[in-house]
Amino acid sequence: MFKKISFLILLLLSCEALASEKLIIAHRGASGYLPEHTLASKALAYGFGVPYLEQDLAMTKDDKLVVVHDIYLDRISNVASVFPNRARKDGRYYVIDFTLAEIKSLNFTEGFEYKNGKKVQVYKDRFPMDKSSFKIHSFEEEIEFIQGLNKSMGKDVGLYVEIKMPWFHTQEGKDIAKATLLTLKKYGLTSKDSKVFFQSFDYPNLLYVKNTLMKELGMELKLIALIGKNEWNETYELKDGKWQSYDFNTLLDEKNMSEIAKIVDGLGPSYDMLFDTQKSKKGKIVINDLVKNAHKHKLLVHPYTLRKDNLPSYASNINELFEAVLFKANADGVFTDFPDLALEFLKNAKP
Ligand code: CA
Repeated sequence: MFKKISFLILLLLSCEALASEKLIIAHRGASGYLPEHTLASKALAYGFGVPYLEQDLAMTKDDKLVVVHDIYLDRISNVASVFPNRARKDGRYYVIDFTLAEIKSLNFTEGFEYKNGKKVQVYKDRFPMDKSSFKIHSFEEEIEFIQGLNKSMGKDVGLYVEIKMPWFHTQEGKDIAKATLLTLKKYGLTSKDSKVFFQSFDYPNLLYVKNTLMKELGMELKLIALIGKNEWNETYELKDGKWQSYDFNTLLDEKNMSEIAKIVDGLGPSYDMLFDTQKSKKGKIVINDLVKNAHKHKLLVHPYTLRKDNLPSYASNINELFEAVLFKANADGVFTDFPDLALEFLKNAKP
């Protein structure tokens, strides 16, 4: 009897431990509620109680790191009206063509696209477009913001840093990985024990980070290889003197995972890569072996990005997705625009 009870207690304790180990990562801050990557959005997510806040980084003309998701400014700011003559031939306004001071002079907003020549908000139920006043900021300012809150609130919330398109920055003569590592080092974030994950869709660049840069700088951070879909052409690699689209299937194939695990600590797939999407239907999400395979090689799995206002056909609500990703597939964490809902889900999932 006593044995049975202590077994049950152990089981309950381990369930709780498992549930609490699931990392909720505030994707671009609490971006479901406030314009992405603004400090307001980061403060809200921090207040929700997340363990990690995400930063996406691009480099400016004057070699500063700025917290922004795209290598462009035109989806989320008034750049086209403030600097009408500064677009490239493709019509886009590149972060890398502007100084940090110029970028700070812009107003930022909920993301939009043009439909029939008219600006339309992408997620219509989110914070209204072009309302209030929002700016974006440098990477250093965000680290100081989080470290400052950690001091004033007595917490230890971590950074989940993504360098955007290192291959593009290389083509433009900039080493974004090195600049990012130097900044992290300046703020004392250098080891696997630091509350930092360093992520990228550019696996060839992660090899350079692991084998060259971190050795040179005496650093050893936790690395995450993001996995994109080949049709996005998210990453190019220099092969036989030519820039060619990177094949992400390399990172999904279990055959390669023992080698991959020597370089990175985990994988960041799109959440649907954890499912058999052909067989999945409402009320029954069918998982595949991706997480199981990754765990065999001690790789963490942190899928992206769960949004209550952009659900797949096989889910009726975001809790079904949290359940499928975090428990059925057993991922170690998740990126979401709605971190409060994820924390609430985990709280209710505990025994
Ligand atoms: Ca990201």
